[in-house]
Amino acid sequence: MPAHLSQVKHLVLVGGGHSQVAVIQHFARNPLPGSQVTLISADTQTPYSGMLPGWVAGQYTRDDMHIDLGRLCRFAHVRFVRGRAIGLNLAKKQVYCQNHSPIPYDTLSLNTGSTPPGVPDHSHVLPVKPVAAFIDKLDHLTKTLRDSPKPVSIGVVGTGAAGFEIVLAVKQRLRQSLPDAGLAHIQLHLLGSAPTVLASHARRVQQMALETLKKARIRLHVNFQVETFDTGVVHAKSGETLALDALIWATGAAPAGWIAESGLACDKEGFAIVDKTLQSISHPNVFITGDAASLTPTPVAKSGVFAVREGPVLAKNLYRALQGQPLKPYRPQHRFLSLLNTADGSAIVSRGPFAARGRIIAWWKDRIDRRFMRKYQ
Ligand SMILES: Cc1cc2nc3c(=O)[nH]c(=O)nc-3n(C[C@H](O)[C@H](O)[C@H](O)COP(=O)(O)OP(=O)(O)OC[C@H]3O[C@@H](n4cnc5c(N)ncnc54)[C@H](O)[C@@H]3O)c2cc1C
Repeated sequence: MPAHLSQVKHLVLVGGGHSQVAVIQHFARNPLPGSQVTLISADTQTPYSGMLPGWVAGQYTRDDMHIDLGRLCRFAHVRFVRGRAIGLNLAKKQVYCQNHSPIPYDTLSLNTGSTPPGVPDHSHVLPVKPVAAFIDKLDHLTKTLRDSPKPVSIGVVGTGAAGFEIVLAVKQRLRQSLPDAGLAHIQLHLLGSAPTVLASHARRVQQMALETLKKARIRLHVNFQVETFDTGVVHAKSGETLALDALIWATGAAPAGWIAESGLACDKEGFAIVDKTLQSISHPNVFITGDAASLTPTPVAKSGVFAVREGPVLAKNLYRALQGQPLKPYRPQHRFLSLLNTADGSAIVSRGPFAARGRIIAWWKDRIDRRFMRKYQ
């Protein structure tokens, strides 16, 4: 390698998640001489999951809820490699990818998100992540239901925010795509291992959620930990069974195995441990944000809110790390706002003990989501 090229510092970003789009934008506005930035992403279009229930409900188009990473990278003079990272060589400072030669780095940043844990391997089970696969499978399921001559039951697994929003959105999608007679043949169920819906939220929010599910005629099954799914029947750990034709899987967050296998320090679940500067506690030239990270000393929820808020701090710290400057801490907020789309033109707001519901909240959520997307589209 010519001497002048060996001086170039390589920053490699893996995954175009909610934090890393802010990094690309920062480097577009503040190019760093003597550095080269590369983004490796499994998808050219990265989804914004806050708008996914709205897409399911027919409120948004695919374009509305995706950021075009190829375009963003061209604008920022960032090299874009479309590929899936499958491993790291931390000693040689290389990223291994599917269908690509190893990519060297000086500083590495991972923002690859998570997927739901424990998804049964069955063609009638649709995990909500990866989102691209979910979108295609849901389109297919909707078409199959439209043509089904017999009654159909669909279950959504996960009584947290994602499952609650998705089951209501599916109801709305079916309402739009099926005639009234067809809709009457479909029963939706929401199931989860927790003792109530939205268990981590205030009592008043849970009450609003229960009323919303009742109005939409969705059956709720709590304390129902799905153990297995055979075609047509789901078995709970308690021994209970439920006849269901398809399952949508929207539970929690599981880490990608290749990150833990790389040798980065991880917590017991396999999420990479970072300190308040968002650096790996074992490899300071590796930064991790969003769902893939386990923040110490104060862990945060696996929620897009944190991935978004980490973005500007990550951008500045990567910039500083490349210049050998001291890094700044990320300070997570204690309480955060949840805006839950109920897919009927309304939404619920939840923050600590505060709760409210109405069309104005749906309008507010839409404004926040669209404003975030406009920054990167
Ligand atoms: C239905 C649903 C609704 C939700 N609604 C909200 C909400 O309203 N508010 C909220 O705060 N949170 C919400 N969440 C949670 C939110 O989705 C996650 O917390 C958030 O997406 C995490 O962001 P991230 O930046 O870590 O990763 P992601 O947004 O998941 O981005 C990861 C990116 O990395 C890419 N990638 C993954 N693996 C690789 C690899 N090996 N190589 C290369 N690229 C890779 C992916 O293609 C993707 O582009 C919701 C989740 C779901 C399922």
